[in-house]
Amino acid sequence: MMPKMIPLLRSLIAGFSLLALAWAPLPAQRTTPAPAPVGVRPIDWPALAEETTRIMAGYLKIDTSNLPGNELAGALYLKDVLEREGIEAQILDTAALGTGRANIYARIKGNGSKKAIALVHHIDVVPATPSFWTVPPFSGEIRDGFLWGRGALDMKGHGIVQLMAMIALKRSGVPLNRDIVFIGNADEELGSTGAVVFVRDHPELIRDVEYLLTEKTLNDVRDGKLVHFSIGVAEKRTFWQRLTVQGVPSHGSMPTKQNPVPRLVAAVHRLATFETPLEVTPGVERYFRDIARTYDEPQRSWLSDVRRALDDSTARAWILDNSTWNAYLRVTIAPTVLAGSNKTNVIPPEASAEVDVRILPHHNRDSVLAMLKRVVNDTAVHFTTLIEPKAPLESPLESPVVRAIERAALERRPDLFVTTPLLNGATDRPTYQAAGILTYAVDPFLVDVAEDRMGVHGNNERISLENIGFGVKYLYDILRYVQ
Ligand SMILES: [Zn+2]
Repeated sequence: MMPKMIPLLRSLIAGFSLLALAWAPLPAQRTTPAPAPVGVRPIDWPALAEETTRIMAGYLKIDTSNLPGNELAGALYLKDVLEREGIEAQILDTAALGTGRANIYARIKGNGSKKAIALVHHIDVVPATPSFWTVPPFSGEIRDGFLWGRGALDMKGHGIVQLMAMIALKRSGVPLNRDIVFIGNADEELGSTGAVVFVRDHPELIRDVEYLLTEKTLNDVRDGKLVHFSIGVAEKRTFWQRLTVQGVPSHGSMPTKQNPVPRLVAAVHRLATFETPLEVTPGVERYFRDIARTYDEPQRSWLSDVRRALDDSTARAWILDNSTWNAYLRVTIAPTVLAGSNKTNVIPPEASAEVDVRILPHHNRDSVLAMLKRVVNDTAVHFTTLIEPKAPLESPLESPVVRAIERAALERRPDLFVTTPLLNGATDRPTYQAAGILTYAVDPFLVDVAEDRMGVHGNNERISLENIGFGVKYLYDILRYVQ
């Protein structure tokens, strides 16, 4: 960043602290307003928040429930907003994905001295059942200080915050070293085909992209209190397996040794009770060390050195008792689907089970599969992989993106911290990571964990107007600081 920019940034930051959220009061900062550098226009933040809310409401009104998705309608809406700002946008891939499906791509130019950064969201949403909602899920209604609608949190709301942060940078004329790329993908919620087709068919559009920001991490807000900001640097990978045992069908009244059901059950039991090795990945190690300060002793010491804690039986038991943390530290194995006979008196010819296996970012699928077979220790049990793991995703803990998020977060709450929880679920990020882009998840909102659990894929999904204003300024700052 150019040194002459810094006084302006300070005055922008000080101005924004007056709008600080109710749960995040900041002492007014004493700064002397400096004249803006030539060519940089100030932003009217309350007006931008209102404009963002209006554009978000319009986007939420477009039903992009997947299936059928209908992302083309959403993409056309975004294209319209972009073109009003003089930003050219391309609708892509409708043919490859089928009727009504689309990705969108746009870019604003920097001076080219550094590589580009991409903002990625998905246009589709999961379906909503109107009868369970207080307001119709595609009304985009504003009520009680909230904008309501499917996608407000996951993730059309985030997508509009990305869009408006980019537009605000263009309008204000802040000098950019990096191009900013805006991508909206189809079909994240079902098959991830939008991101896959985009990366496969348009490598030239992202060849110069170094970093990427998208969902899915959560700033930790509990009972209205922000505990920490988050950056997603890594995610687990799905490696689903089906176990099958062949047998000889016969009558249940005269059991034989060729009944495949007990053999399968024994295999499933061995897997379910197996203690997979514990491993501490870089992001997880940092996460535990960071959150240690929010605990009393002895937990504080345990978390501050989790490797040592895992060698201590009391500490290990306490850490692994938390199912989220347990999943951060190992391959997890969850048998879920069972199939044998559908008649009590018939011994079936085959029995099968499906097992939800999730591996850590750095794991090799062959070694994990060999481990599972070793544990089962029965060659009659046949393994079929139902889902191959996506590309490994563990982005560096040190990067301009991480520093930019830390700076933007700590300016808002110098008393708190930013940390790197692992994502136990899965996203489109590995598709981009495999194309050579370092991807990070950022959360532009401060949404209570209870509210998030209720709304995301649930009923009455909504985002507060306060959060919309917070999010657009937070992402704007992150994009400025990453330059
Ligand atoms: Zn999502």
